[in-house]
Formats: sequence, structure tokens, C-alpha cells
Amino acid sequence: MGFFGDFMSIMKKRAVVLQSMTKEADDVYTFSFEKPADYSWRAGQYALFSITHAKVKPGTKPFSLSSAPAENAIRITTRIGATPSEFKQALLSLKPGMTVRVSGAVGSFGLDKAEPALMIAGGIGITPFRAILKQMVAERIKATQPTQLLYLDSSEVYPFKEELETLAAQASVQLTTVESLDKLELERNAFVQQNKEKGRFLIAGPKPLVDSLASGLQQQGVAKSRMKKDAFFGYL
Ligand SMILES: Cc1cc2nc3c(=O)[nH]c(=O)nc-3n(C[C@H](O)[C@H](O)[C@H](O)COP(=O)(O)OP(=O)(O)OC[C@H]3O[C@@H](n4cnc5c(N)ncnc54)[C@H](O)[C@@H]3O)c2cc1C
Repeated sequence: MGFFGDFMSIMKKRAVVLQSMTKEADDVYTFSFEKPADYSWRAGQYALFSITHAKVKPGTKPFSLSSAPAENAIRITTRIGATPSEFKQALLSLKPGMTVRVSGAVGSFGLDKAEPALMIAGGIGITPFRAILKQMVAERIKATQPTQLLYLDSSEVYPFKEELETLAAQASVQLTTVESLDKLELERNAFVQQNKEKGRFLIAGPKPLVDSLASGLQQQGVAKSRMKKDAFFGYL
């Protein structure tokens, strides 16, 4: 979409109505909002969500859309632990029929060419990849080049795992779950060896993890221009 498209999209703010809240795992929740008729996005993009029913600071945070455009609902999935921030307390207090404000979607995170691709999700960083796989299946797109989703979750909960297994099989994507950084690096190295020059590398998750994985790739000779990163701050 580019800078101008993103700018126009971020300037447009609209209220969206909560339909439901679903607990995906112990501390992982999906909030599903009605999609306005004129709202659109590309799988992998994120939007800015603002709390309007309570006074919280900061009242606006970015979230990747965990739903695919084909699902016709705007969904975000987030981790809410035992001591939630004011923002997440406000999210939890939403009831169906109440609204939040959305601006965007923006960003270039996504698979847009038939080229080898390694997608790396750290924990809750699975959200944009769930949308990407779901949209591939909705459009009956199968990867024609080696395409792998590496899903790291040290707690071995892997939100969306069963659904992802089905989607990955349908989209000809290799899904690999790993519970440690060591295992992730073994898988990553194997992919890099084969596809360093022609591969695309997408990384999403907590910022420290994304930064360290990206510098690891660079040390292995992967050009920065071959990487796309969604670094979630607020997570260690
Ligand atoms: C492009 C992009 C996409 C993103 N996509 C996602 C996504 O799909 N899912 C997602 O979950 N996040 C996503 N994020 C990150 C998201 O915007 C938040 O930063 C993140 O969810 C942490 O929010 P928080 O309110 O818990 O953070 P913070 O306010 O930074 O809080 C961090 C931690 O501090 C503690 N804390 C903070 N305030 C209080 C308080 N008042 N009382 C007690 N404890 C407190 C809590 O333990 C909390 O977990 C994305 C970020 C970017 C940039």
C-alpha cells in the first residue's frame, strides 16, 4: 500500500462493535469485532486500537489482526497475564455491543511473492501468521516454493496449534513447533543454508526476540532487505 496509503488509513478512525471474547489458552484471549462494510486489510497487517469506554493511559496500542480478511470479522489476540496493564484491564471489561476505535490497517508484513519463505513466530507473535495462513487457504493458494512456519513457545501451549496444523497442510506450508531457542536456531539454520539469497524472512513476536533473531540472520549473511519484522513491545 505504501506510505501514503498507510497515512490515509491511519487517519481514518472508526468505532467497531465487540461481538465476542474467546479464551484461546490460559492467558490468551481473542476479541472479535464486527467488520464495517468499508473496512479492509491485507493478511499480516496491524491496526491501532483505542479504548473509549474508560480512561486509560496509554489508550491506544497496535495489534496485528489475527483474522484473515476472508473471515469478515476484525480480530485481535493478546496475552493477558495475572497483572494486566490498564489497557488490557479495559479490554477484559468490554461486553458484547460495546465499542473500541480502530485506525489502520497498515504495514507491509505479509507474503506477497512466490519465493521461499521462513516465517518465525515467537509466542503471541503467531497472530499475523494465523491471518496469513487462513487467507491462503480461503483463496486456495498453495505455497509453490519452500515455505516454513517456525512457532516458538517455551510454555508449549501454542495457541491456535490445531487450526494451524490444518491450515498449514492445506496451504503446503511446513509448520514446526519448537519449545527452545536452540531448536529454533537449528531449523532456521537449515532453511538459511538452502535459501539465504532468494528467501524472504518474516519475524513476529516480543521485541527482544525479534531483534536477536534478525541480527542472527544478518550474521548468517541474510540481507536486511529480505527481512520483515513485527516487533511487539511490552513483552520480554
Ligand atoms: C506491529 C505490532 C503488532 C502487535 N501485535 C500484537 C498482537 O497481535 N498481540 C499482542 O498481544 N500484542 C501485540 N503487539 C504489542 C501490543 O501493542 C502491546 O504492546 C502488548 O500487547 C503489551 O501490552 P500491555 O498493555 O500488556 O503492555 P505494557 O503496558 O507495556 O505492560 C507490560 C507489562 O507490565 C505490567 N503492567 C503494566 N501496567 C500495569 C498496571 N497498571 N498494573 C500492573 N501491571 C502492569 C504487566 O505485567 C504487563 O503485562 C504488537 C505491537 C506492534 C508494534
